[in-house]
Amino acid sequence: MRRKLAAGNWKMNGLRAGLSEMEALAQRHPDPRVDILLCPPATLIAPAAQALSGSRIALGGQDCHAETSGAYTGDLSAGMLLDAGAGAVILGHSERRALHRETSEEVRVKARTAQAAGLTTVICLGESAFQREATNTLDIIGAQLSLSVPDGSTGVNLVVAYEPVWAIGSGKTPTPGEIGEVHTFIRARLESRFGPGVGRSVRLLYGGSVKGDNAAEIFAIPDVDGALVGGASLTAADFSPIVEALE
Ligand code: PGA
Repeated sequence: MRRKLAAGNWKMNGLRAGLSEMEALAQRHPDPRVDILLCPPATLIAPAAQALSGSRIALGGQDCHAETSGAYTGDLSAGMLLDAGAGAVILGHSERRALHRETSEEVRVKARTAQAAGLTTVICLGESAFQREATNTLDIIGAQLSLSVPDGSTGVNLVVAYEPVWAIGSGKTPTPGEIGEVHTFIRARLESRFGPGVGRSVRLLYGGSVKGDNAAEIFAIPDVDGALVGGASLTAADFSPIVEALE
């Protein structure tokens, strides 16, 4: 059985004062029946690891470099994230793909490095509004999936997040049928590439305008094992109902 996962992506939000929101979330969910992962800005990972020690909330980064060390000013390695207290890293978020021109090939190399370091990789896929209108969404997702996910991925070191670009931060979400179609497709592709055992053990998250009031409907869709949440993960008041909807 796949354990459900509520993941929060804080993006470029959060100062040390925001640690109190993490502590409040931990207090609300001392013994959660689902996995909870928070991905704050890298500056907060170490202090968050300290603030959350003894809690069931895991921490992750939002990106890492493909190399393990070297002359890469401003970048962070997978080993640094791990050293700071992270157990996971988001890779290939559409904001990185668009604003930093990351390709699926680069995402795959990063993911290979991150998995080798011992991090769980949350690899993001998603079509733009233009792509949804102009082409077949499943073709876009299929290409991103096969290029972004490295060989050797398992249900432990890989989580796939389907995040339509047009749904992120927009208040718009696909219909349950549309989400289900993409998730079923991703599952089938993973099963055919990695075999049914691994393919069925990888958790698939939906992301894009998940809120407390639409979470239950989204979590009822087959092959949705949780959510990757942006805006509504920043406060315990907003994120906690999403965790509860998953439990
Ligand atoms: P959102 O962001 O929940 O604010 O739409 C989701 C994401 O970008 O991961």
